[in-house]
Amino acid sequence: MHTVTRFAPSPTGLLHLGHAHSALFGFQAAQQAGGVFLLRIEDIDPNRCRAEHMQGIFEDLAWLGLSWPVPVRRQSEHLADYAAALDRLHALGVVYPCFCSRKEIQEEIARAGYAPHGPEGPLYPGTCRHLPAAEAAARVAAGAPHAMRLDVAKAMARTGPLRWYDRAAGWQQAAPETLGDVVLARRDAPTSYHLAVTVDDAIQGVTLVTRGEDLFHATHVHRLLQALLSLPVPEWHHHGLLTNEAGQRLSKRDGARALRALREEGVPPAQVRAMAGFPDP
Ligand code: GLU
Repeated sequence: MHTVTRFAPSPTGLLHLGHAHSALFGFQAAQQAGGVFLLRIEDIDPNRCRAEHMQGIFEDLAWLGLSWPVPVRRQSEHLADYAAALDRLHALGVVYPCFCSRKEIQEEIARAGYAPHGPEGPLYPGTCRHLPAAEAAARVAAGAPHAMRLDVAKAMARTGPLRWYDRAAGWQQAAPETLGDVVLARRDAPTSYHLAVTVDDAIQGVTLVTRGEDLFHATHVHRLLQALLSLPVPEWHHHGLLTNEAGQRLSKRDGARALRALREEGVPPAQVRAMAGFPDP
């Protein structure tokens, strides 16, 4: 099978060494397999994404020695693809509108006194899952702001047990319930990370999803969406995350390690590749 990998950053700031590690990881995996490495811009969040950051991503990665086919897919230009996928899920009866604000969700969790926790914090308590369909439809028709959530239990009942393969961790039993009824379309954006990434990886023919292990749990949801939408199933390779001197995961706060800063200091790309865990052979 022809290998296709991708690096899919969100243009919300400068790339740092952690991004370089992830991009090089995907690039090398494609090269070793004689395949193709894609770059994708995940810019569905209009409040956080900036065109100048997208330009910065192109510049930094090219400087680092990476190349990729153009045109680059930008999620903000493909919202109709995600809407079509959401429609299909709607037709299957596995999504529901959620009118809860963040504050209401917190209040509901506090009231219940207990909420199951997932890897990303307390799970959505399911408040809107039980709304009568007619009432929910009327509120949507009246223009009430809402997100769309996946009814994980219903969806799993439809697909039955699922598995997925990670090149580092081996076969996994899909456990999307650990993330609860995730959002598939946000109040402020017509899709969400989970839906857009799943649809795009299929449309772009990605056969090996390489990304940081911080997204390991998200893959349970993506595998479920693939089954519901009859999409091809890639392999995954979740890689470890680079840490700073204090042993914490690198983040945008480690501004000194922005690739741009290193470039401006005159650090050569080969040295930055080595700092990112990929010394030249
Ligand atoms: N856009 C995501 C991020 O910047 C990564 C998506 C993915 O690799 O699946 O964290």
